[in-house]
Amino acid sequence: MVLLGSTGSIGVNTLEVARRFGMSVEVLVAGKNIELLNKQILEFTPKVVVIAQKCDVLKVNHNSVFYGEDLILKVIEDSKSELVVNALVGFLGLRPTLKALACGKRLALANKESLVACGNFIDTSKIQPIDSEHFGLWYLNQSRSISKMIITASGGAFRDWDIAKLQSATLADTQKHPNWSMGQKITIDSATMVNKIFELLEARWLFGEGEYDAIMETKSMIHALIDFKDGSTTAHFAHANMQLPIAYALDEKMDENILGHVDLLKVGSLEFREIDKTRYPIWEIKEDLLKNPNRGVIVNAANEVAIERFINKEIGFMDISKTIIEAYSKYPNMPRSVDEVFEMDAEVRRNI
Ligand code: NDP
Repeated sequence: MVLLGSTGSIGVNTLEVARRFGMSVEVLVAGKNIELLNKQILEFTPKVVVIAQKCDVLKVNHNSVFYGEDLILKVIEDSKSELVVNALVGFLGLRPTLKALACGKRLALANKESLVACGNFIDTSKIQPIDSEHFGLWYLNQSRSISKMIITASGGAFRDWDIAKLQSATLADTQKHPNWSMGQKITIDSATMVNKIFELLEARWLFGEGEYDAIMETKSMIHALIDFKDGSTTAHFAHANMQLPIAYALDEKMDENILGHVDLLKVGSLEFREIDKTRYPIWEIKEDLLKNPNRGVIVNAANEVAIERFINKEIGFMDISKTIIEAYSKYPNMPRSVDEVFEMDAEVRRNI
């Protein structure tokens, strides 16, 4: 496989699955964590390595090291592997997604920003998503009439905080996720609930038009539910561990035990909550966005700018959602092509 983002949370889990099933790795792409990358090189012996910055090239223990975004695209094009795993974070992941598909590769896609920003122009038939909610929906899907697909949210780090204190929450506070251990950005996105907005958009592009919604399930044992027309509801239970969706994304015929089963007697009870617009103001735009999923590019760009400002302590935590909602009302247009996706992304970043 070609693994983009090998040193991140999904990347590390992907290599654990690869190790277990003896899958070979042709290309490793990482950012700045050269120490971990060097360990991965030693174990998985890739043919080529790409990193983010020129200044780190000499620190990488490999004789074929490149750097920069353009080289990520080139190594995808030059690779022999049929499978590309895109576990890069942010809008940076979009071009590699488009390149992998243009080269006819099968794409295991964790980089949710690709579908959020550009879903209308991406052929999802060659994509297997790496996300527990979409994996759950895919698992539950069968040839019966569906009335609604529902994904669950944990509620993130602040689900039980006093709402009055949220504006002064720090970056370190956002990272105290109750159930999952993930990269920094997605953990912030969980705290604002932007992550669930993104997942609803992803679901819309992956599974087509229909009814979608999200509710909170505080233990993250149920990842998805489907309401069928006949009145039945089915739920997908699994422990909060990304190796299950990753294993299926790497090998669709997966028939091994990946995780231990959920022991419902140990779980005891489950709690479901509505997603509250006061705590999660981004929920205000959910309905409109699901009707106009093409506008995801605006939400994504505004979110990335706002997160950067929050990390730099230029704005408070609640200003992240405020910034996104302002941008969303300021830009009513929808992109009509991939080029326009990149143009709109740049315009939003310039002007908010
Ligand atoms: P991380 O921040 O943990 O990892 C991001 C990866 O991208 C790292 O390997 C990082 O390298 C690399 N990277 C960043 N910038 C560059 C660059 N300029 N050039 C090359 N590589 C770069 O993120 P996650 O693994 O948590 O998330 C990855 C994606 O998967 C996101 O889109 C997220 O929303 C999605 N996702 C994550 C889940 C999770 O459980 N973590 C669940 C479902 C989806 P380095 O660290 O070396 O700088």
